[in-house]
Amino acid sequence: MRKTYHGSCHCGAVRFEADIDLTQGTSKCNCSVCAKGRFWKVIVGGDELRVVTGSEKLTAYRFGGGAITHFFCDTCGMKPFGQGEKESMGKFYGVNVACLDDMPVKDLVAAPLEYQDGLHDHWERRPQEVRHL
Ligand SMILES: [Zn+2]
Repeated sequence: MRKTYHGSCHCGAVRFEADIDLTQGTSKCNCSVCAKGRFWKVIVGGDELRVVTGSEKLTAYRFGGGAITHFFCDTCGMKPFGQGEKESMGKFYGVNVACLDDMPVKDLVAAPLEYQDGLHDHWERRPQEVRHL
């Protein structure tokens, strides 16, 4: 069931809301940016995330092919979400579940968790090692 959750960066300048269906699961990826940031995410559609305040505080970061835009707060450095577009999915957001202020931990840990081998451009595949993610 889709439910609206509210999130923010650490300093509170950036506030957003996202319509999330936790039964769809959460994911962690081993690509260079996700692994360094320990980015634990949930995917929502392009019209299922709304920045409520602080959009001017968000700095966009891209690397490699630049397929994903990683947004971080220019004051506190938190990355509340990234944005991308795929032929199979259309426009989407990867929401940092750690930035969701009203998602109960018990609900988060009960949701299915999938691992992705983004390091080798095989997001559909589980990496051999996931314990560090
Ligand atoms: Zn901030």
